[in-house]
Amino acid sequence: MRDWLAIRARATPASTAVVDAASGRSTSYGDLDDEVEHLAGQLSAFGVGVDDHLGVLAETRPGFVRLVHAANRLGAVLVPLNVRLTARELDGTLDAADVDTLICTAETEPTATEAFDGPLATVDQPSEGARPLSTIDPESFELGSWTRDCTAALLATSGTTGGPKLVELTMGNLAASAAASSWRLGVLPDDRWYCTLPMYHMGGLAPVYRSVLYGTSVAVSTGSFDPEGSLAEMDRVGATATSLVPTMCRELLEADGEAVMASLRFVLVGGAPTPDSLVETAREADVSLYPSYGMTETSSQIATASPTQTREALGTVGSPLMFTRVTTVDSDDVPVEPGASGEIVVSGPTVTPGYYDDAEATEDAFGPHGFHTGDAGYRDESGKLWVLNRLTDRIITGGENVDPGEVVDVLRDYPDVEDAFVAGVPDDRFGQRVAALLVGPDSAEPVEQFARDRLAGFKIPRQWRLVDALPRTASGTVDRAAATLLLEEPDTAR
Ligand code: ATP
Ligand code: MG
Repeated sequence: MRDWLAIRARATPASTAVVDAASGRSTSYGDLDDEVEHLAGQLSAFGVGVDDHLGVLAETRPGFVRLVHAANRLGAVLVPLNVRLTARELDGTLDAADVDTLICTAETEPTATEAFDGPLATVDQPSEGARPLSTIDPESFELGSWTRDCTAALLATSGTTGGPKLVELTMGNLAASAAASSWRLGVLPDDRWYCTLPMYHMGGLAPVYRSVLYGTSVAVSTGSFDPEGSLAEMDRVGATATSLVPTMCRELLEADGEAVMASLRFVLVGGAPTPDSLVETAREADVSLYPSYGMTETSSQIATASPTQTREALGTVGSPLMFTRVTTVDSDDVPVEPGASGEIVVSGPTVTPGYYDDAEATEDAFGPHGFHTGDAGYRDESGKLWVLNRLTDRIITGGENVDPGEVVDVLRDYPDVEDAFVAGVPDDRFGQRVAALLVGPDSAEPVEQFARDRLAGFKIPRQWRLVDALPRTASGTVDRAAATLLLEEPDTAR
């Protein structure tokens, strides 16, 4: 078997594969196949071969799609990396993922150079010594082999205090996810999926693989999200579908985007809870909103609700996708009754075989009913699922995940800080915002500066409060409930 793109290019060479959303320039499957063959030859000449781990540190852009398929053609494992990480954070992920070769862009080259000692190439003009791929003559290469169990990609979940967790996704996982998703959302020959989510997150990467299997096209935006620009792009390229995090969806609607959004066949939202108010706003604007629950470990969607389902049952994420089985269990792994809350456990062909090079985490994650999501939820009699909260206290701000423990560790490293507490507080726009209590310093400003040098911007607390001591439980641990209450009382003294 050849890779999916090769098969697709032979079947429908003239249909559109990729549209550059900024310029409107489109590439057919036949041409994409040639471009990917050329790129795979260049990567091969640069030393990338079967089973090598190919890191990609790049914003979403049309060229990302070529890199995904080139990795596949070479039988290399794609490791997409979050461009928002600091060099220190990136270094940890590169190490954990055993990245052999790294590809960067003009924007990410400074961080890549600082974090990576191995072979580094850029798809743009270099400024700091990365090898430009354009100067490499392609060579013939050994084709990868593609069976269901081959690892296609390693995707990092949001970094945690215990270090990054890298999810192995097989070709079989991705194919099953594409099939199950199409049975919920449908596929039409002229579908054009507008891609603006980061392709280093599962939700952003999924349409790249899916479109090739479906024979449909992706319209790929470049760089960071901006509501007005995205609406104009969707309109220009004739997008028929898109996937977003709830915050982006709200911003698009607020930017006068009702008409463009209502012209899409569907808008998939996920990665964080979809507020009921957003579901209602979308309904009033005639937007076909599909709230979705998913995660990296399940190759994205687990359950997805149609507009009909949310009309009947506001707040639901719908029923599980085809072939995915969801069980809600108590702490002894015993399934609970409909209506009762429990941990959401998932099994089926979209579920990862495990975490890369981490047998312990893999073993911890799987129980008799399947993969433990770490999320609490319940199902109703008809099987529809509601997600309540994470079993841990992870903060989700604007679709990005923040581990409070990681932020606390950095804040505590600042000399004047004796103690610190971090939690999420409700935020109308971002779902949650990161907030911190500090014990010790006279002002939060230098602490914030200190944190900025060590953490990605979305992890920096937006709200600070200085306190004399943290509330503690009888056993001496921080009383999270009482501390969170302190955070919710506004205090501007900093
Ligand atoms: P880590 O595993 O390192 O903690 P993460 O779980 O935040 O990172 P992702 O795989 O990107 O990384 O996110 C999946 C999680 O996002 C789910 O487990 C769930 O907690 C949350 N989530 C996704 N969709 C929804 C939703 N519709 N409602 C509530 N929570 C959601
Ligand atoms: Mg997770």
